[in-house]
Amino acid sequence: MPPHEAFLARVAQDGVKFIDLQFTDIVGAVKSVAIPVNQLPEALDHGVWFDGSSIEGFARIAESDMYLVPDLNSYAVLPWLAGKDTTARLICNVYTPNGQPFIGDPRAVLARVLAEAEAMGFIFETGPELEFFLLKPNADGSIIPPVPQDTAGYFDQPTDLVGGLRREMTATLEAFGIVVEALHAEVAHGQHEIDFRYSDALRTADNAVTFRFALKLIAQQNGLRATFLPKPFRGMAGNGMHVHQSLKYKATGHNAFADPGDAYGLSRIAQQFIAGQLAHARGMCAVLAPLVNSYKRLVAGYEAPVYISWGRINRSALLRVPRAHRPESTRVELRCPDPSCNPYLAFAVMLAAGLDGIRRELPLPAASEENLYLLDNSRSAALPTLPAALDEALEVMAEDQVVRDALGPHLFERFLAAKRLEWDDYRLEVTQWELEKYLPNY
Ligand code: GLU
Ligand code: MG
Repeated sequence: MPPHEAFLARVAQDGVKFIDLQFTDIVGAVKSVAIPVNQLPEALDHGVWFDGSSIEGFARIAESDMYLVPDLNSYAVLPWLAGKDTTARLICNVYTPNGQPFIGDPRAVLARVLAEAEAMGFIFETGPELEFFLLKPNADGSIIPPVPQDTAGYFDQPTDLVGGLRREMTATLEAFGIVVEALHAEVAHGQHEIDFRYSDALRTADNAVTFRFALKLIAQQNGLRATFLPKPFRGMAGNGMHVHQSLKYKATGHNAFADPGDAYGLSRIAQQFIAGQLAHARGMCAVLAPLVNSYKRLVAGYEAPVYISWGRINRSALLRVPRAHRPESTRVELRCPDPSCNPYLAFAVMLAAGLDGIRRELPLPAASEENLYLLDNSRSAALPTLPAALDEALEVMAEDQVVRDALGPHLFERFLAAKRLEWDDYRLEVTQWELEKYLPNY
């Protein structure tokens, strides 16, 4: 049987007319090229060529030709178009004309670090918790200033509108093969969280990217807007993307983090992995929390981390070890990422940091189990903190060799350059706060 015959038969059976070939740029925005289904056999055999020069973080003009190679495992019919102009999406890997994975492709970056882990005998699995706000558009259709859709609080029972929306969101995510495990109202007004089943990190990154664009679309179709901005409102909780992480042994499939004999249930591998992430927490922060706005979330008092620390019960810690009900579910939750990150790059640097801890056999510092926000100044001064703002995060990232190697020099430099421009633009802004604070007195 020709290599793609079974796949093409499935596409025909689904009545697909168009294929969206998707990939992401360095900031994690979904890019796509649509092809009519009659072009699919050719695309599967030879890829689809495109000009990468206009895409954020991609090639220079002189080396702009790239081609997309679809990953057939990512096949899904877009649920909102099923039956009409039935369209399926395929997430693609990006290649250069000489057949090499393109070094500016975030998916290729993650695949490379995952391969390093595999060479050490490990599979990296992740499960993110994406938080988001539902906003009511203003009379003119804009969402500035943002207005939360409701005033519900943590775990409040949903209204009919929100209940219906959540069921629609769940059905949509399931159509993409994403297994939803829980939905609930979060702490802030209009804030929600939907958790989906963990998987290997590449699949999870695909799912997180899909989650964002699918939920935005469903909200919009229902007259609302979904936002993953880390901190839309001063004085209310922000949007986190906590990531549960574990390594399993490639050879046996067993959890490599579990050691029931240890007080925290953690193996040496897990301890070194955590130590590695603590050591690179500052250096990788710009990738995990990439916006100027991200640092308005990483402040005391809103269950977002500030201090570089780890613990079990403590939700102000950067790394939390949730109680595992069986050894196989032993995992470590990193709490600084927010849902504005590029999940491919985020998982790549997180894994690289953990592997660095394992390679160097870094010792695990003592756990912090107190509420870190309540520490007196003399105690908290002893704990290092995450960067206070994007410019500081970029400065420390520039010095972190492990983060550089994980992203590869091309993407590392492009990322820093793009984000420095963003910071410089922000620095020029005269904000409302400054006017209100200073204008009356100066
Ligand atoms: N919204 C909080 C954050 O910004 C997290 C709340 C929670 O623990 O789920 O990280
Ligand atoms: Mg939450």
